[in-house]
Amino acid sequence: MPDTAPMSFETKRVRTLPALREAITGLRSSGATIGFVPTMGALHDGHLALVRHAKSLCDKVVVSIFVNPLQFAPTEDLDRYPRDEAGDVARLQSVGCDLVYLPTVDVLYPENFVSRIEMKGPALGLETDFRPQFFSGVATVVSKLFHQVRPDVAVFGEKDFQQLAVVRALVRDFDMGIDIVGLPTIRESDGLALSSRNAYLTPEERAIAPKLHQALKAIRDGGSIEDAKAELTRAGFAQIDYIALRDAETLGDITPDTRSRRLLAALWLGKTRLIDNIAA
Ligand code: AMP
Repeated sequence: MPDTAPMSFETKRVRTLPALREAITGLRSSGATIGFVPTMGALHDGHLALVRHAKSLCDKVVVSIFVNPLQFAPTEDLDRYPRDEAGDVARLQSVGCDLVYLPTVDVLYPENFVSRIEMKGPALGLETDFRPQFFSGVATVVSKLFHQVRPDVAVFGEKDFQQLAVVRALVRDFDMGIDIVGLPTIRESDGLALSSRNAYLTPEERAIAPKLHQALKAIRDGGSIEDAKAELTRAGFAQIDYIALRDAETLGDITPDTRSRRLLAALWLGKTRLIDNIAA
């Protein structure tokens, strides 16, 4: 598989459901399998790693770019979330994405849209304690996108570890028959997990941000969560939403049946909320 697409290759853009359906029918006509990567845009190398991986698993790759209002609270950053359609499409073209779906809000949520998916299990606690609307918004949009695109495989990042668990449960519960693949977090050389929201960080905050990954590794290697929280507060993190050690499969508390553990964190650096997690 070449790392970059040939010069003649063009990523097709669609914005409406009929156009998406027609393009998907075209992609599928020769019996091709379809890999899907849902995103909110402002694409970085973490997103592109998912697209490359989807490309290695399937014949064709579809990426959606949609900043989903349903998963943002009124106080959150929906309006200032970074948007760069031209840059995103160029990046997707460089890694051989076949089709990019760019629906507007009224394409996904027309006026008569009245349904919501509510989940328990892995959706309880952690992010939900601080963003109660979040997983209902994610599960609802992912479900819609899956029905629209009908992929064979969908690739998600472990960067959003709880989200990955929620999507796995969603697909299992509703018998969607889509293979959900999780990929390890892509990081900067100093350990900071790539994130579209890193663009919000001031140079001073950017210098402090890698301490989050360092703190998680210190806990994994035997340090206490309390010491790590104190160190992060000293370093300048404004508010720690959570740092928690959980069962990696259920995301519940560790029990004697726990087979693998995950250390998950969310905290604020100035006005930016960072999340990260590692195996522990
Ligand atoms: P987002 O655009 O933030 O909604 O993310 C879209 C997808 O990219 C999700 O599956 C994320 O988990 C994944 N993703 C975001 N950042 C990274 C990263 N640093 N490494 C790997 N995957 C990522």
